[in-house]
Amino acid sequence: MGKPLTCRLGRHRWVRRATEDGGTYKQCVRCGKDHDGLRPQPGSNLSL
Ligand SMILES: [Zn+2]
Repeated sequence: MGKPLTCRLGRHRWVRRATEDGGTYKQCVRCGKDHDGLRPQPGSNLSL
């Protein structure tokens, strides 16, 4: 339980968020995962 199916498939819904120091990052609106700035590698990050 937890992650929506779309997120478990690696299809996150990224939105831009602002940090306190003025930077930006991306976060999934569905599961809250922080984007690491790299494109997800299919099959390499599927641990639950
Ligand atoms: Zn997600």
